[in-house]
Amino acid sequence: MAVFACAGCGTELTVPVAEVALPPHAHRQGGHRYLPPLLEPGTFAVDPEPSEPPWRPWAEITVAEAVARGVYAPVDGLWCGSGGAVLLAPGDTRGTVLIPERCDGCCAAAGSPNLACEGCGRTVGARIDDCYQWQAVWLHPRAVWRLPVEGPARPAGDGWAVPPLPPVEPDGWWNDRWTATVGAALAEVLAASGGEPVAVPPGLLTETFGRTLRRLLPAGAPARTLGLAGPGLTPAPAPDIALVPRHPWTGAAWQPPAGHGAVPVPLDAAVWTYLAFPPARRTTRLPAGEERDDPLPLRPGWLFEPDRYLLSHRLARLPAVRQPWLHAIYDRLGNRRHHPGTSEDSP
Ligand SMILES: [Zn+2]
Repeated sequence: MAVFACAGCGTELTVPVAEVALPPHAHRQGGHRYLPPLLEPGTFAVDPEPSEPPWRPWAEITVAEAVARGVYAPVDGLWCGSGGAVLLAPGDTRGTVLIPERCDGCCAAAGSPNLACEGCGRTVGARIDDCYQWQAVWLHPRAVWRLPVEGPARPAGDGWAVPPLPPVEPDGWWNDRWTATVGAALAEVLAASGGEPVAVPPGLLTETFGRTLRRLLPAGAPARTLGLAGPGLTPAPAPDIALVPRHPWTGAAWQPPAGHGAVPVPLDAAVWTYLAFPPARRTTRLPAGEERDDPLPLRPGWLFEPDRYLLSHRLARLPAVRQPWLHAIYDRLGNRRHHPGTSEDSP
């Protein structure tokens, strides 16, 4: 476990927290009107990507510099300062005060550096508390020290047992974590497709992955199959491309057993669990066989739209995007007419 302390005066700024992986939706931009904390209480995650100034536009970055930073296709620009920002649940901070004049959001605080150390007044991070944003505190990498404290390095358990996350919220919105993780996973599915049509099982996978794949890949007889694999689920024959859970603590993709043959593509473990082991519908009022109407399943008010920003962001960081056919798809994603969720593109 660790606590984070002010690098200026040593004031402790957090309770003891255990490290987990940066969630796939950590950089989702826009989403549900009201979003909960990004991380569970008692945990923290580190973002390895630089998030500090200077910001350099793409025109000033050479190809070699971009590749050295793990970027293989043109982007708007890159933060070239320090990486290692620390993400926390807001309730786990201590010894901090808000800087009111920097709380610049629509409703409260959108992410400007608005959090100061109570001990010395140095700016140490940002509290995000605004509409359409996940609740979070980000501590600036150079403003804090990480101090080891006694206690388990990880939360209890082995991490794979994750409750299933339903795709639709009670108010009819698609769940934000589904939108984010499908967006990022689509980049890897596209890369693994080889530019040829992919067969997607009917149901939720078609609804979430299939429509976008159909739009971005050529029509014709499928050359590869998409399916699921993971703890307790190793189908035979294996799909060519297997959606597997991403470990919530380490961020590592579950690896199929040797000889399984599938290309693994990681997915938010809670989303994967729902897809792999969908909960049985429960009914309390109607006899067996009649439960189809009680209660009606939740239905969203619109078609699923994978997170376009996260899809492009991940695609730009895959070496495969340098292949012309995948680069062409990447370019199309930057074109509004080919937005995966726009009606202009609908079949
Ligand atoms: Zn301080």
